[in-house]
Amino acid sequence: MTMTVKMTIDGEQIASEQQFEVLNPAIEEVHGTAPECSRDQLDSAMAAAEHALHSWRQDVDSRRSILRQCAERMRANTEELAKLLTQEQGKPLAKAKREIGGSARWFEYTADLEIPSTLIDVQGQDSVEVLRRPLGVVAAIIPWNYPVMTAVWKIAPALLTGNTVVLKPSPYTPLTTLRLGELLNDLIPKGVLNIVSGGDVLGEWMSCHPAVRKISFTGSISAGKSVALSAAPDLKRLTLELGGNDPAIILPNTDPKAIADKLFTAAFENSGQVCVAIKRIFVPEDIYRETIDELATIARGVKLGNGLDENTDLGPVNNRKQFERVQELVADAKQNGGTIAAGGGRYGDKGFFLEPAIVGDLADDARLVAEEQFGPALPILPYREIEEVIERANSGKFGLAASVWGSNKKQAAEIAQELDYGLVWVNQHLNIVPQVPIGGLKWSGIGVENGPWGLLEYTELQVIEVAED
Ligand code: NAD
Repeated sequence: MTMTVKMTIDGEQIASEQQFEVLNPAIEEVHGTAPECSRDQLDSAMAAAEHALHSWRQDVDSRRSILRQCAERMRANTEELAKLLTQEQGKPLAKAKREIGGSARWFEYTADLEIPSTLIDVQGQDSVEVLRRPLGVVAAIIPWNYPVMTAVWKIAPALLTGNTVVLKPSPYTPLTTLRLGELLNDLIPKGVLNIVSGGDVLGEWMSCHPAVRKISFTGSISAGKSVALSAAPDLKRLTLELGGNDPAIILPNTDPKAIADKLFTAAFENSGQVCVAIKRIFVPEDIYRETIDELATIARGVKLGNGLDENTDLGPVNNRKQFERVQELVADAKQNGGTIAAGGGRYGDKGFFLEPAIVGDLADDARLVAEEQFGPALPILPYREIEEVIERANSGKFGLAASVWGSNKKQAAEIAQELDYGLVWVNQHLNIVPQVPIGGLKWSGIGVENGPWGLLEYTELQVIEVAED
């Protein structure tokens, strides 16, 4: 039986005339249907969000308390939400539970953040106060890899700072987020958090909507650029969290066996569908083959399967488009001299399963190296000199995250500073916590999420200057 969930608009659960189907990627069968939000319904959500602004921005303590209650409500419903998430996204159930638990933690962390205000001493003035005020209605647009986490990363800071939200999940994974809207609805004043569902066109309507003062978008670089264009006529504020092509650089004298497990996990977590997953690994020539062999051995031992099966290590790729794209990149790699050390084929004949691929012997301009694969295929590249590898890692338009691995941490941290990436890890990759800001340089984004820095992106400065008597 397929499930149906409703949108949350102005505190009501709303269906729509049109519906769209959501596939379970492990079995390629329809798992549920979601409402296709009409233009009128979007207008209602925006009007409700505008209307709710005035009273919502008055009382920060009540907002803190509501965010904490949201965390509790999420935790109390972890089983239901996680199962739904696995069935529409594909990830193993244990990882889905971590996504729900992590999102609850983000609500709690954000609830305690200070909204700064500063008094400045200016001669001739009684007082000069620099305040942070809410922007207004926030349009939040979400991808399909971590649908709940990426939504909460926007909802929590936007609401704490006194904004109201209209949020749209990806059409591939709308069900858990819509259900979350239903579960939180009685905790939040009506109109403050509206959740609508639909395709890319709905995202375009949201980006162009005159009620919106800020767009917080997570997704692909191409869609991010069109969102920026839509925002321009209205000078809407923007946070863009976009794609990456994260390099991991292994320094000389590193034992590949000692780090292979960590590298593998950081590349193939969520079947490689993580914006900050390792997307290419640079290895000194003398340990190149050994590194490939270590990673290939791990790849061969991975158990693929339905995320609801507790023995599953990796689930399917989320959708047919991505499934075909990763296969296309692997086929292109083979045609261009790449050696497939492990995986690379389809697993089974149902579901979007791909065996994790370890690929060697590619040039930097091969598509699998130069583009964001966002799936389970990893190119390993040899290098000779540190200067050379820094230049190669920095070439191109991506600038999201990177990592440097070596026994000399000081040297690794110095090299990290040479890399043009927003977040560079040393001897780790994928450590994501609410206190630490994350955001991309170059084409990987504008602005950051998380920590006090992310919070400020939902505010603008106001100065109140009182003259001396
Ligand atoms: P996508 O850009 O196709 O879609 C993301 C969302 O934007 C969806 O809700 C979609 O319906 C909507 N959308 C698409 N076109 C739009 C447009 N022109 N205007 C407004 N909205 C539009 O991305 P995706 O395939 O869902 O997600 C994968 C991409 O997201 C990858 O590139 C990945 O790196 C990136 N991502 C980045 C981060 C980060 O924090 N930097 C996190 C997760 C995913």
